[in-house]
This record gives sequence, C-alpha cells and structure tokens, in this order.
Amino acid sequence: MMARDIPNVFAGKVITIDGPAGSGKSTTARLLAQRLGFEYLDTGATYRVVALLGKRHNTALSDDKQVDELLTHFDVHFEFRDGVNHVFLNDEDVTTQIRTPEIDKLVSPVAAHAGIREFLVAWQQERAKAGNVVLEGRDTSTVVCPDADVKIYLNASLDKRAHRRLVEYESRGDAQSMDAIRTDIVRRDHADTQRTVGPLRCAADSVVVDTSNLTIEEQVERVYQMSLARLTSQATSSSKEE
Ligand code: C5P
Repeated sequence: MMARDIPNVFAGKVITIDGPAGSGKSTTARLLAQRLGFEYLDTGATYRVVALLGKRHNTALSDDKQVDELLTHFDVHFEFRDGVNHVFLNDEDVTTQIRTPEIDKLVSPVAAHAGIREFLVAWQQERAKAGNVVLEGRDTSTVVCPDADVKIYLNASLDKRAHRRLVEYESRGDAQSMDAIRTDIVRRDHADTQRTVGPLRCAADSVVVDTSNLTIEEQVERVYQMSLARLTSQATSSSKEE
C-alpha cells in the first residue's frame, strides 16, 4: 500500500538504511517507511530474536546441530501499533525482551555466525522481494539487497551515538552509565566491522548522511529528499535510454 501524496517514483521500490549502532537508523527507517506507506524490516531485530532464542534454549553456537535446531523455532513477524514496531516470536510480543543490555551482548556472536547469517539473510531477502519496503541493518545495502533502488548510510559521532543509547535505555527505566554504553558501542563497532561474514561496510553507491547535528525530523526529511532525488534521476535516465 502506498501512502497518499507520495510521488510515483517510490512505487515498488526497495530502500536500505545501514550504519553503526546509535546512528539513528532504526527511528529513521521506521518513520520513512511510515511516511511512504512501506513495510519496515528491522533486520537487527531478527538477530536479537535469535540471541533470545539461544539464551532460552541454552544453545552452544559452536554446535551446528544445536544451531539448526534453534533456527527451527524462528517464526517472526512485525506489527506496527501506536508508533512502535512490535516484534513477535510466534505469538509472543518480545519487543522489549530483545532490547536489554544482556541481549546487546549476546547478539554479537550470533551475528558473527555464518550459518545464522545465511538463514536470516535468506529470510530477509524473501520479505524484501515484493518491494515497497525499507530495510534497516548493517549489511542490507551490501549483502541482503545489493540491488536496492536507494541505499543510505547513516553515521554520527561516538558521543552522540552513546548519548542516544543512554536516552533510549533511560526511557525504559534501565539505568546505564555513559561510560558503559560508550564502551559497549566501541566493542560492537569493532565486532560489526571486523567479522568475516556480512561486516558493516558503507556500499560504494550509498548516500552518506551524518546525523550528529540533526534532529530526528531533519534526519527523516533529509533521507526522504535524498531518496526522492535519487529515484527521480534514475527515472529520468531510464526514460532517456528508452
Ligand atoms: O540494529 P541492532 O542494534 O538492533 O542490531 C543488533 C545486532 O545485530 C548488531 O549489534 C549487529 O551485530 C547485528 N546485526 C547484523 N546485521 C544486520 C543487523 C544487525 O549483524 N543486518
């Protein structure tokens, strides 16, 4: 379904938003999808659900059989309600359970596991096939949808990113020190950029947006305008070729 008053160039398109933790990609992707009437696919949530499942089943990631068994329990869908993208594992709403400091730690080895990545990337690609979707995550422009119509890479300074995470934890009544958050972001940046499978990279054809000094409204507006400009120029050049 396409939201009203949205230029036709957006119809059926795939938009990917990548960037490191705290760059504002989740909020931007969600609001952009909402504005366009697109599906919002939070790929980070899928890794978090596997981390939660691994914790519940006490899975040893080094044991392929246990991992295969674990993935049979992966049945995820999203429901957008009251401005929140709810994440369901089967019929259980796990939205808050997958965003705790404990899952923040458990998710890195899960995301570095080649078999789990292969499974989740295939699941995400299947969901993106129909278009009208904004995918968000660290490898959506490079691995999941390398042929996406618009690729955005969001970045921000470490301090800004840590501050945003602090506010996010506080809003859930979860007290964390700024130092602990900064250390965790540095650890995750390192894990995300250095892993051998699906590392965080800025695709050569991504539009880079530094969000350090932007409000969320400005960020969404900028990404919307950049997407519109890119799609309009693609439409113009393909009509010239015809
Ligand atoms: O974006 P979010 O913080 O929810 O992602 C959780 C974790 O999942 C990240 O730390 C990252 O290691 C991993 N991830 C990934 N590839 C994606 C999305 C997330 O490896 N496309």
